[in-house]
Amino acid sequence: MSVFKKLCIGPTNCFLIPDNKGYLLIDTGWPGRYCHFLNILKRIHINISEINLILLTHHHYDHIGNLNQIVLHSQARVMIHSQEVQYLKNRTKATLKGTNFTGKLLSKFLSKFHSPPQPFELRKQDIILTESVFPLHHLGIEGIVLHTPGHTLGSISLIFEGKFAFVGDTIMNLPFTSPLPLFAEDLKLLFKSWERILSYNPQTIYPAHGNSITASKLYSKLKNIS
Ligand SMILES: [Zn+2]
Repeated sequence: MSVFKKLCIGPTNCFLIPDNKGYLLIDTGWPGRYCHFLNILKRIHINISEINLILLTHHHYDHIGNLNQIVLHSQARVMIHSQEVQYLKNRTKATLKGTNFTGKLLSKFLSKFHSPPQPFELRKQDIILTESVFPLHHLGIEGIVLHTPGHTLGSISLIFEGKFAFVGDTIMNLPFTSPLPLFAEDLKLLFKSWERILSYNPQTIYPAHGNSITASKLYSKLKNIS
């Protein structure tokens, strides 16, 4: 079994997933933390040039911070869903729709004080997904990418080795709201995406905020909703 690594870049969990030559990086963390990111890599004895691919689960600023520097120094390709591309390029402000009282309060606060980080121009080697299922075997990774809309319309998740689901903000494990994310552009789509993730029978689910959760916790929450 391959070993993946969790990196906390600010309040965002990013992950390094092994491929056959180096690593796939899931998300690039809170803006302005590039030095912190490098320090973590150093501590775990990974060189930035070993990152071959960066999967952006979605466009929110706490997931695409440090993207420009990481791409510049790793020369990694970037993978993102087509429905998120405009936000990378134009620095369009994200609309955050709160799913509960805390989310609604926070959405006002965050929209007011946070602007997106540097724009990023996708290059011809980058991968823009339009498919609902995208296998990664041809890139040397034992996994598949699923389109899991709801938190944002172009959110994507990775099922790795058939056992581990890396889901960005499609699921959040925060006090009081877990596993519901604080924000969702479309709740109906979000619950469909949960069903989709569960249909792959993952053992463990890794959200970008909070600790991992079991598939059974997600399943019971879904049962209560429907
Ligand atoms: Zn988000």
